[in-house]
Amino acid sequence: MATSAILPPSCPSDRLKSVWSQERNYPMPEYPLRRPYRPTERHSCIWPLGLIQKHARNCILLCYACLLFNHGVWAGQPLFDAHLHYNIEDATDYPPDEIISILRDSKVSKAVVTSRPPRQALLLHENAPEMILPILGVYRTQVEKQIWMYDRSLPGRVEKLLAEGIWRGIGELHIFAKDRRNPVFLRIVELAAAHSLPLLMHCDPAVIDVIFEHAPDARVIWAHAGAYPYPPLIRDYLDRYPNLYVDLSIRDQRIAPSGDISQTWEWLLTEYSERFLVGVDTYRTERWADYPDVARKIRNWLDQLPSEVAAAISYRNGQRLFTTEGVE
Ligand SMILES: [Zn+2]
Repeated sequence: MATSAILPPSCPSDRLKSVWSQERNYPMPEYPLRRPYRPTERHSCIWPLGLIQKHARNCILLCYACLLFNHGVWAGQPLFDAHLHYNIEDATDYPPDEIISILRDSKVSKAVVTSRPPRQALLLHENAPEMILPILGVYRTQVEKQIWMYDRSLPGRVEKLLAEGIWRGIGELHIFAKDRRNPVFLRIVELAAAHSLPLLMHCDPAVIDVIFEHAPDARVIWAHAGAYPYPPLIRDYLDRYPNLYVDLSIRDQRIAPSGDISQTWEWLLTEYSERFLVGVDTYRTERWADYPDVARKIRNWLDQLPSEVAAAISYRNGQRLFTTEGVE
């Protein structure tokens, strides 16, 4: 049997091990997580027991409250989807009103949308301004996804677009370790920080290091739980960088491999509940057809978390990061 077949899905891959030492000067976080999650007052239903003993006649009411406010009530709650694409080719099959219906049918109350070309996302925003939060995708064509960091005119264009004041963030930017000190990229990081806009990054861990070295005040969302969705690594980065957030799009299979949430992920999500976001990530057109199904999968594992944790990850963190409205 190949070694990889007997390792749990969250273990570091051989590629990660080989690049780690070349890209940074500190050791790779260890597997498994060393500090298991222990329920606290905030997350547990155990704390009212003393109260129940003292006020026995209120016991039934309290039990009802526990059932209502702890596990198992999230299936129908609104979602804040923090990672969507609405590219020009998607619009042929799915006009804006159809997209809005798909989102409403899945009980999405806010959706962060990027697009190629950049203004495509605004078409959705115009249809449902209370729901759609447009972020500035910087690619005009599919090819630019690979070469944007070599276009010296890009920072100027981004600066002009940001002056419009409608954008809630910048991204998704795809960039890997070898380009982490690219000047066009670093200038965009500076612009995001200067405008207090979150950056949605699809990148290697070493890129995250460079962003915070260059602009410690930047706020970064690490798409897909990073290029190596390995809980000890994510935990180490969340510890290291207080302005780092993690979007869990595309990682449902790792978080809950056969529907049941993995314990390692449960510990991580609970310990850093204020730093995770959910998203479906419509990275290709067909994904819009799968939207209800993917949203159901996300809700399935959210539903297995303590309710406070699920509330933070499903909605509250996105609201705090992307809007100026109070958290409901
Ligand atoms: Zn994406």
